[in-house]
Amino acid sequence: MKTNISYIIVFTLSLLFSNSFSNDKPADFKKFVVVIDAGHGGKDPGKPSKTGVREKDVALKIALLIGEELGRNKEIEVLYTRKTDVFVELDRRGEIANKAKADLFISIHCNAHTSQASGAETYVLGLHRNNTNFEVAKAENEVIFLEDNYEEKYAQYNLNSPESLIGLTLMQEEFLDQSIQLASLVQDNFREKLNRKDRSVKQAGFVVLHQTVMPSILIETGFITNNEEGKYLNSSTGQKEIAHAIATAIEEYKGNVSANDFLGITKVVPAVEVKDIVSDSEVYMVQIAASSKSVEPKSYNFKGLAEITRAKEGKLYKYYYGDTSNYSDIQRKLSEAKSKGYKSAYIVSFKNGVKRKVN
Ligand SMILES: [Zn+2]
Repeated sequence: MKTNISYIIVFTLSLLFSNSFSNDKPADFKKFVVVIDAGHGGKDPGKPSKTGVREKDVALKIALLIGEELGRNKEIEVLYTRKTDVFVELDRRGEIANKAKADLFISIHCNAHTSQASGAETYVLGLHRNNTNFEVAKAENEVIFLEDNYEEKYAQYNLNSPESLIGLTLMQEEFLDQSIQLASLVQDNFREKLNRKDRSVKQAGFVVLHQTVMPSILIETGFITNNEEGKYLNSSTGQKEIAHAIATAIEEYKGNVSANDFLGITKVVPAVEVKDIVSDSEVYMVQIAASSKSVEPKSYNFKGLAEITRAKEGKLYKYYYGDTSNYSDIQRKLSEAKSKGYKSAYIVSFKNGVKRKVN
């Protein structure tokens, strides 16, 4: 047994080193796929400004520059929803990302306002907390009216009623903490490296973000209606700087994610309430949902499943079914959770405060 363990350690270390120091990737090496979505295009100009700067042009230039920079990283594959001035339907944008099984979806836009408002803000999908956020999402969502069959395609959305617009289920929030992490890195770069006005990370109901099944953000890179910022956004220096700030944030995010994935471990953040889960021996649970909302761990909230544990991890509450050191027992519980409708449920194990996804 001891030999086996030392072998595993040596093997793991050699993998670590080969990954850091060599370009020979294992045969099953999967590139980190980033889909870059330049907002608007073609018959949809996006927001116009008095100076004639058009959102669709600025968004496309920044998107292509981000892709150019990320494309130089051998571990990243870049895909675009558009590379030219063409109209792309909102649901098609999400479809491109979903089909590619992308790791990230980045949508690039510009803001506009009747005042001289300025600054950059980054959105993740969620319920808006104030009317300004709602107005931004509403303006971006209105492009669906330019599409054929929009009534049919977007029947689930009522653009004037944010609650219906979201219809967020617990499972759809699975990617929220990662989206927020990336959005914060983008805003940090804007503020610290470019000295831009930081309008912070926000939540609102963007249809385009609702279509994707991976961490997704929408960046309002600045106000084309602001005299100075409009000029900056329309200049090649401004576009290069903004693209560089976004690309660096994506690479930093990728670094964080890969480090965790490589070991198959999610380190539980110290501040979390997982004390009930911490154990010297391995404990198995079925993760059935993740949400920013704290829901009582009662069976009536979880389709009749009893034995629900709620634990805070980062900004999300994770909900677990079952609690056992018996592996075949937890496999039975996984089947039970799936039969109740928790189709993407999976087994996790906890040991000494470290959570691990069990395959
Ligand atoms: Zn836009």
